[in-house]
Amino acid sequence: MADLFSDERFCRFLSEIDASDAAKFQLSEIKDDHYDIYEFYGDVYCLVSKWEDNESISALYLIEGEEKAILIDTGMGSGDIPQLIFRLIGEKELIVVYTHEHFDHVAFAGYYENEYMMDVEESIERVNAGFTADELSISSVRTDNPYPLEGGRATATANIKPMEDGTVFELGGRSLKAIHTPGHSPASTCYYDEKYGLLFVGDIFSHGNIFIHFDDDIFMKSDLDTFIKSLDKLMPYVQKSKYIYFPHLSVVDTAQQMVVLKDAVESIRAGKVQYKVIYNDYSQSDVKCYSIHGLEILVALDSET
Ligand SMILES: [Zn+2]
Repeated sequence: MADLFSDERFCRFLSEIDASDAAKFQLSEIKDDHYDIYEFYGDVYCLVSKWEDNESISALYLIEGEEKAILIDTGMGSGDIPQLIFRLIGEKELIVVYTHEHFDHVAFAGYYENEYMMDVEESIERVNAGFTADELSISSVRTDNPYPLEGGRATATANIKPMEDGTVFELGGRSLKAIHTPGHSPASTCYYDEKYGLLFVGDIFSHGNIFIHFDDDIFMKSDLDTFIKSLDKLMPYVQKSKYIYFPHLSVVDTAQQMVVLKDAVESIRAGKVQYKVIYNDYSQSDVKCYSIHGLEILVALDSET
């Protein structure tokens, strides 16, 4: 069962930052049958399904302004997440944005009015069509979405709309800027919170595997050079940021980790890092696995690295 406070790396992160900031990461008093609700530094809710284990935590982030709220990603599919979101934000207008098109981030696409993904037509069409349970049987992701979905679908069909790179969502007293950062996938997007100096980085960063090896109809195409360009583009925001929030595993770290990641992928690109070949369950293929700076980065076997 997922519990961030039993996660060693999460606790180490808290022990290494300012105590006044660390005190702002806590389990909320608001309870839900399916989700653990955490309150994070910067007035952010982090929602983690109770039915995922610590190896597969997929967190959603809810950011409230005075007038509107933004939900980043809709998760892997468990519980009545739309009902929970509206319980948390009350009458405020809700905007849903996605870090990218991968199915473990979009299970509840289609349950909200205003949903946006970076303007990559193929990716939006893929998510809007919904994923079938068969298509997702390749992965260990939960496909028992409790909502009745037509045609044996694991995710609903949706009406996600495209947004432009640089779109700023004004929430009242705070805003969130969308920054297109492809590489892990074509529609990968980070979100920058100017008020608190927070970067929501999607699957670009993880303390598990960082995937830059995909090339199929489910995950779309990853690309290492594009990934490096995206990190370059992200650096001005990283310099202004304190913390990064990401979906999987221990979910928070200092923004400095993006500089570490940048150095890691540049070293891999320059051929300076040894790799081993491992089998990846998600892509069902052999991939190059690079271990550097405490990160494990997966790159396609045929990449020029
Ligand atoms: Zn992903």
